[in-house]
Amino acid sequence: MSLSPDFVAELRKHFIGDICLDAASRALYSTDASIYQIEPLGVAFPKTQDDLHAAVELAAKYRVPILPRGAGSSLAGQAIGQALILDCSRWLDGLVDIDPEARTATVEPGLVLSRLNAAAAKHGLTFGPDPASAERATLGGVIGNNATGAHSILYGMTADHLLLADVILGDGSLATWGVVELPAIGSQPSAFVSAALRIREKYGEAIKKNYPQSWRNSAGYRLNYLLPWSPSAPPQWSDDWSLATGHYPPVKPHIINLATLLAGSEGTLAVMRRATLNLVPKPKHTILGVLSYNSNAEACDDVPRLLGFNPSAVELVPQMLIRLAKGIPAYTAQVGWVRGDPVALLVVEFSGDRPEVLKEAVKRLRSDALIAESVEEQARVWSVRKVGLGIFDSQPADARPVAFIEDCAIPVERLGEFVREVENILAAHNTYAAFYAHASAGCLHIRAILDLKRGEGVRSLRSIAEATLALTLRLGGSMSSEHGDGIARAEFLRQIYGPEVGEAMQLLKNAADPHNLLNPGKMLDAPPMDTHLRYGEDYRAEVWAPVLDFARNNGLAGAIQQCNGQGVCRKDTGVMCPSFQATREEGNSTRGRANLLRALTSFPVSLQVTKGSEAISSLMRLLRRRDAVPRNDALGESVYHALDLCLACKGCKAECPSGVDMAKLKYEFQHEYYKSHRRKLRDHLFAYIGPLAQLGAPFGKLVNWSMEQRFVRGLVNPIFGLAEKRELPKFAPQLSMPASRFPDIEYCESVILLRDTFTHFFEPEIERAALDMLTACGVEVKVLPYFSAGRTLISKGFLEPARRHAERVFDAIQKLDPEGKLPVLGIEPSELYTLRDEFLDLLPERRADAEALASRAWLVEEYLVRPGADNKSRILRVTDKLQDISSQNSSKLLLHGHCYQKAQPPAADGCPVGQNASAELLRTVGYEVKIIPSGCCGMAGAFGYEDEHYELSMQVGELALFPIVREAMRSGNEVSAVGTSCRSQIADGTGVAARHPLVLSVQRLGSMV
Ligand SMILES: Cc1cc2nc3c(=O)[nH]c(=O)nc-3n(C[C@H](O)[C@H](O)[C@H](O)COP(=O)(O)OP(=O)(O)OC[C@H]3O[C@@H](n4cnc5c(N)ncnc54)[C@H](O)[C@@H]3O)c2cc1C
Ligand code: SF4
Ligand code: SF4
Repeated sequence: MSLSPDFVAELRKHFIGDICLDAASRALYSTDASIYQIEPLGVAFPKTQDDLHAAVELAAKYRVPILPRGAGSSLAGQAIGQALILDCSRWLDGLVDIDPEARTATVEPGLVLSRLNAAAAKHGLTFGPDPASAERATLGGVIGNNATGAHSILYGMTADHLLLADVILGDGSLATWGVVELPAIGSQPSAFVSAALRIREKYGEAIKKNYPQSWRNSAGYRLNYLLPWSPSAPPQWSDDWSLATGHYPPVKPHIINLATLLAGSEGTLAVMRRATLNLVPKPKHTILGVLSYNSNAEACDDVPRLLGFNPSAVELVPQMLIRLAKGIPAYTAQVGWVRGDPVALLVVEFSGDRPEVLKEAVKRLRSDALIAESVEEQARVWSVRKVGLGIFDSQPADARPVAFIEDCAIPVERLGEFVREVENILAAHNTYAAFYAHASAGCLHIRAILDLKRGEGVRSLRSIAEATLALTLRLGGSMSSEHGDGIARAEFLRQIYGPEVGEAMQLLKNAADPHNLLNPGKMLDAPPMDTHLRYGEDYRAEVWAPVLDFARNNGLAGAIQQCNGQGVCRKDTGVMCPSFQATREEGNSTRGRANLLRALTSFPVSLQVTKGSEAISSLMRLLRRRDAVPRNDALGESVYHALDLCLACKGCKAECPSGVDMAKLKYEFQHEYYKSHRRKLRDHLFAYIGPLAQLGAPFGKLVNWSMEQRFVRGLVNPIFGLAEKRELPKFAPQLSMPASRFPDIEYCESVILLRDTFTHFFEPEIERAALDMLTACGVEVKVLPYFSAGRTLISKGFLEPARRHAERVFDAIQKLDPEGKLPVLGIEPSELYTLRDEFLDLLPERRADAEALASRAWLVEEYLVRPGADNKSRILRVTDKLQDISSQNSSKLLLHGHCYQKAQPPAADGCPVGQNASAELLRTVGYEVKIIPSGCCGMAGAFGYEDEHYELSMQVGELALFPIVREAMRSGNEVSAVGTSCRSQIADGTGVAARHPLVLSVQRLGSMV
């Protein structure tokens, strides 16, 4: 099936947003965070409300299926389909209005929930339902899935907070769904209102009889919201009407709120244009009590008792996640608060305005309850689940945690029984699962381990799903309680609700979407849950032989498939993913790049054999044989461009829960790609800048002078494709070695220093400061005869030369230190961390030695703040001697860390690493340091110097860094930056000369050194 040319032509006439029908765009939107994959017909990005309306109207006219989409973070497959995708997340993201008095907000569908919450927080308000994916989930998707989260016992579900919705129905007509007083409905109600009334009248009894006993239900449509009825209610639901009557949902007999029907309808009833939502007061204080149990089931058995204390959340954290978090040395310190080896923990939260009342409540839970009071302590408790889940999700194997029975909600009195029986079901299928999350609401996320690339795994998928469904129904629970039905569970809807309620749901669907154009293939006409799998028995991946070692990732194909689509890379905070943050384009997210690479290297039966798929195969041929494929291959170019805009900042390596390392994949792709494509001259200039700088240094003045001449720049910049607005770094006069300044120093230890091209030739005062600081601290410095660890070669994909360079550096280190005991230090993070990261991948045959080297490779700041043999941090050897350091006025300083510093995991011994180490050094010498909450600066090595990347580079800088630096200058604060590129970028973007922490430290200790 493809889009008719007439439809596309007419749509283009009425649409100002983008319309993308190419193979790459279809590949990008063929997955969400589920196990499914369906290639869409195309993707359109409405820029205005009129665009959105025009798309739906024309789709109705030409009978084109459409699928509104937000962040695509759905776990059940409802955000994919054979339809024209309307991606509302890029432009339709307005916060139309917040009314603090009425406690309401009106939003467009693409607004990200965390943005709404940030705006509402200014008025002490928040949106009650709190899905864990709030940092990227859009309100369209939150409503589409009837999302909720850890605090559902306090706030219910999204349906409970949906006051009004402006929608477009399947025939293209506009409607406003809100509260309707029954007697006020006119004599000629719309087809949709008539259907709602008829359902209430004719099917009321069937709904009462067949809806689950759990209030936390999001399977199918919200027909129960048409009736003032429910078998159970959230323990603390605070709506006046519910409190008065004990009824949930909170529906008065004489009204119908049609807006609630949109909640959980997964884009199948209407396209939401705007919605007005209820906001709730944000609790001022929280406190946690942590209880241990001997089994998950025993913990769940205790939940009804705990609910009697009126907590705001009760979350289950299983032993598996605790052990995984404890098992990684870097995280051991973070989970040190867990006593012993409990099989399960319940984290019980109380929230409110009076801390003393909360503390009393938590004490009553159990005498041995561990109490987390401070914000830091509470963050550490929650981090166990986060860290454990991340590790669980990133296991490099074909058998992975699968979401399909992860959304059951059971009446809490029977939750323990449910857990015991699901454990039996899983054991009978020779597998196991992590059970975690919202015990308070009877909703446990169960991620069973299955290998869906094998027939047995796919058969278990169905068999476990059917057995769990039977169990859930027997216990009065619901199969979908916040993640929706999608493809994973919609097949079972008629079985869950029976034919009568099925008929009522169909009646509603027909009234809203008479031609079945809105997200077809979901809800009542969904396909079997074991079809359309992203992987599957016939899945085959074909990759080239990589240069880098991917053994840790289950091979190169495993590294590409590591992305499970959760979409954390679409958040707009932290480092990951700067190019997405700046452009909001799916193809520029880590997920987008992973999806394109996967499309390129796999041959899934579920992808249609279309021109696009042929293009994928042909690019693979290209990657295998130099001459086989035409250069204008559209998809191949898309993959190239998506990776070209990856800044290789390693944000994903640190922040992606599945540990996707796109920088490494980019290097490997470039290496293979350029076997058959001509490189730009510029790549050679940047990759070999070290040897070129060595050659040029003796003529530094001449080179500097000529690069200042307009005509030279006018000639050189276009030849090399350099940005006109940038200046390449200038050669600086070389400084003499400083050792002579410390004739009396007694060395108490030795280190090896890896110099780098940038600080040696262009900013030698930094190298000098490093030597000064080390020498002053009694550290003898042996300088390696080679410059740099080869970062510039690696970042341009010159992997074979990089490997040879790594061998040479490695040999030189061994020659200076045959016993392999001396620490190896570096100044420039991108260079030094190459020893910790890429050397392991470049030299797999020397793995043990490379690991040993990685464990003793430190940035100078990291080394100075670490304890020496006397158990005191080395920098204190100087500052202790300095009388007046504490008496000096401390100056305020803002520090921007290098991306690779931010990507470093915590050290096993708890000593500061990365930007925290740079900050610690500066604090020790007397600065009042604030770390700038910035991500990547945007320069990213050579990236920002390249003509075609200049604009994006500046956009990334403007996301957070530049505005904060400008503000710092206005307030008279100094700015420090650790990376050489970061300093250039700050200078170019703000005119501020940021200085290196080592230079500032030496200056501070001026009288001493
Ligand atoms: C790691 C992880 C954790 C999660 N945790 C939670 C959780 O705690 N609680 C929870 O509820 N969910 C959770 N989810 C599921 C999901 O993230 C949320 O339900 C989220 O609200 C979906 O938002 P989205 O923007 O990604 O929607 P999408 O996935 O893009 O879309 C969701 C549905 O809404 C429909 N839709 C989107 N826009 C519109 C529109 N304009 N009009 C009509 N329909 C529309 C789509 O067609 C689709 O059917 C989690 C997911 C992941 C990966
Ligand atoms: S790259 Fe990581 S964060 Fe992004 S979708 Fe994939 S797994 Fe999730
Ligand atoms: S390395 Fe940086 S820019 Fe590239 S995908 Fe990862 S987070 Fe995005």
